[in-house]
Amino acid sequence: MSEAEKPLNFIQKIISEDLKEGRVKALKTRFPPEPNGYLHIGHAKSICLNFGVANQYGGTCNLRFDDTNPEKEEVEYVESIKADVKWLGFVWDGDIRFTSDYFDQLHEWAIYLIKEGKAYVCDLSQEESRTYRGNLTEAGKDSPYKSRSVEENLVLFEKMRLGEFEEGVCSLRVKIDMAHPNMQMRDPVIYRIKKVAHHQTGDKWCIYPSYDFAHGQSDAIEEISHSICTLEFEEHRPLYDWFIANLPVPATPHQYEFSRLNVNYTVTSKRKLKLLVDEGHVDGWDDPRMPTISGMRRRGFTPAAIREFCDMAGVTRVDGVVDVSMLEFAIREDLNKNAARAMCVLHPLKVTLTNYPEDKKETMTAPGHPQRDDLGTRSLPFGREIYIDQDDFREAANKKYKRLVIGKRVRLRNSYIIEADESIKDENGEIIGVNARIIENTVGKNPEDGIKAKGVIHWVSADDNIDCEVRLYDRLFTEEAPDAGGKDMLDSINPDSLQVLTGCKAEVSLANATAEDHYQFEREGYFILDSKDSSTDKKIFNRTISLRDTWNKKS
Ligand code: ATP
Ligand code: MG
Repeated sequence: MSEAEKPLNFIQKIISEDLKEGRVKALKTRFPPEPNGYLHIGHAKSICLNFGVANQYGGTCNLRFDDTNPEKEEVEYVESIKADVKWLGFVWDGDIRFTSDYFDQLHEWAIYLIKEGKAYVCDLSQEESRTYRGNLTEAGKDSPYKSRSVEENLVLFEKMRLGEFEEGVCSLRVKIDMAHPNMQMRDPVIYRIKKVAHHQTGDKWCIYPSYDFAHGQSDAIEEISHSICTLEFEEHRPLYDWFIANLPVPATPHQYEFSRLNVNYTVTSKRKLKLLVDEGHVDGWDDPRMPTISGMRRRGFTPAAIREFCDMAGVTRVDGVVDVSMLEFAIREDLNKNAARAMCVLHPLKVTLTNYPEDKKETMTAPGHPQRDDLGTRSLPFGREIYIDQDDFREAANKKYKRLVIGKRVRLRNSYIIEADESIKDENGEIIGVNARIIENTVGKNPEDGIKAKGVIHWVSADDNIDCEVRLYDRLFTEEAPDAGGKDMLDSINPDSLQVLTGCKAEVSLANATAEDHYQFEREGYFILDSKDSSTDKKIFNRTISLRDTWNKKS
């Protein structure tokens, strides 16, 4: 389906109406990550939505780091998030922005609210505040400090700023309504004392705005037209609107919520992903088993497949869980069309072609891709000794087994038909080699005696190949909902999520593989060079995904 034919999602409908009716002149969105971890597949959906609508409707999208919580934030995360957004194929408008860029303005607005009699310094402890707040069935009560004068509040707030109080001694709150049915509206805190340095502002501040006080106002400063976020912020919208209505802001953005992307067999919470990293259950944020953008990239996912997946998942207000096989489908579709073909033997078994002269060499030619002439051809050295996969040979087998069997024929992909004569075993009876013969004149042709080969197997020359390591990945969790209902995700970590194979033999065309090139290793799956652990001396390939979905068959 072309872009123009696709039905609009509810956000697109709102935007196109707003533009048509002239309620909004230019569309402006933003993606506002908190730099407290690496981005994951859930964030990809928000990125695709925010940048996607901006591209579609001729608008712009900002990248804003929502950095109001200095305790958990780090520059490393800022850099990784920038790289991930770029890699996904999106361009933010102008420079990157930080909520902390607006700390001066937010501080002024806090003073404005005090002067308007709409904010007060409250000395209730956290514990006391909780009791004063009431609950969903009971109204809260006013803080005894709510009646402080404007002058007193101004002095106290300035003392907070100057660091004259310890953390937790007091906070700045807005006067809304302690009996409001929406708990968010019960005089929320807008400034807290936190005596910590900030990665952007250093030691300048020891008071920091709350998320709610910063978020909408940052949107207003940037003149965001549609502030798109996930459903858990729906309850915060009245507060968002209250700030916009009660402050002299330069624009009046609107917040719209959509449902979070949840994927089965996957955890999408930075906090939980951080735990996997910190406790060493995975090898870093970019471990290829992680649902982070950087992990998926290293695993061999493509930006196009991730964007397609986010598109397929759709944008709604209904919470649900998307089947991970949809993501796997998206990557297979992309790589089937675009990945160059190659052969790599994962469990090598040497085959000696006894009727092939020892000093003879040939070069076979194979297409780079069966349907893509633009991917050229590959040259495959061929000689008397080759490797095939251990799984592709049996001494005897029934008719269903269409590979190499003693006395039977099989075609070597892009090369001769061969027939096996005998196996060679070590002292323990393990098969360590096979003697076979080529059937003359069968490259690209059927044999003259009319006895065809039943199957086709992959192979590489034993003399000319690349020794490599191959890492096979499986889902990180064995349970569909690893962290649902208070379950400990660590209980369902898949012990077989990584299998490392060494001594694999790849065809020589892979000598120049880079971590940007995707390959289909014929009959084995889709692979990419590992961007981190590979070196010129040691090639390591990651399996992005198998050729077919075998997960259900396993269980
Ligand atoms: P996490 O729980 O993983 O820490 P978060 O919502 O706290 O996620 P932020 O950095 O605040 O992470 O998120 C940036 C943006 O990405 C927000 O607008 C948020 O709504 C959106 N987002 C986060 N997770 C998802 C998800 N699973 N699906 C869709 N959007 C998401
Ligand atoms: Mg958050």
